[in-house]
Amino acid sequence: MRRLEMKYFNTYYFCSVIQYIIEDSDLDYVGTLAEFTELLSECKREDFPQESYLQSFVDFTVERILFEQNEYKASDIAAAIEADGYENVINNNHEVFYSHEYKYTIFELAIIHYQGCKEKMQDWIAKNVAPEEFDALDVAINYTNYLEGNYYDVINSIKNEVFYLLFQNRYFLMQFNVLISDIHPGKSERKNIPTWVKSAVKYRDKCKCVMFQKDLSGIMDVEEYRDKQFDHIVPLEVGGFNDVSNLQLMCSKCNQKKGIKTYTNNIYHFYYDN
Ligand SMILES: [Zn+2]
Repeated sequence: MRRLEMKYFNTYYFCSVIQYIIEDSDLDYVGTLAEFTELLSECKREDFPQESYLQSFVDFTVERILFEQNEYKASDIAAAIEADGYENVINNNHEVFYSHEYKYTIFELAIIHYQGCKEKMQDWIAKNVAPEEFDALDVAINYTNYLEGNYYDVINSIKNEVFYLLFQNRYFLMQFNVLISDIHPGKSERKNIPTWVKSAVKYRDKCKCVMFQKDLSGIMDVEEYRDKQFDHIVPLEVGGFNDVSNLQLMCSKCNQKKGIKTYTNNIYHFYYDN
């Protein structure tokens, strides 16, 4: 069983940005959606990819946000150099490093939080960028490259945590799947659902029908176990994907009633009663 150590480093921040992008595509933070749309519409649909469509999107977005922050910071440093000269900025702890909105970018903080073995942008610039060579975009790219190994480790950790949280939220999953089925107007065939997908959905929905919480665990009743069905939140008939993020657990009665409607239930149990 794979384990995930949750460090909750800005995890909720990334979750909200991703939610905003999905809810309001006009916002299209850092052009992520536009690029993802292009990428997705060019690819053939896959059935139950191990790296699910939601994971790919999370990955894409997290990477974009982190890089964008490095880029903004490098641009602000460039502007300060323009105004006050390289020496004054890089070697004298110029206020740009303190007054800046991103005193540390999330990414620098992430590096410190996750590994703590690479240099902050300021120190890296001092050692590696000659005064006459300062170019904001180059700095953003080269600094990102310098972080390389850490960069992907950090993105991977963040992406797994963000996925873990977003996967709990069925309403969000429905919105995401509506969006990708709009972007990619193909059709997926009904396929056997891999065991790992079934496990994920069963654990998330706690072995209960998402509609009226009928127990489908089969612990007490074999019939109920057999009644368990994996429903596509966005049905295949209307363009839904075979993706782990598009499935939910239902009893046969509810599944039949739902038919080819796009629907989920966002009612959950309290952890305890008062
Ligand atoms: Zn039911």
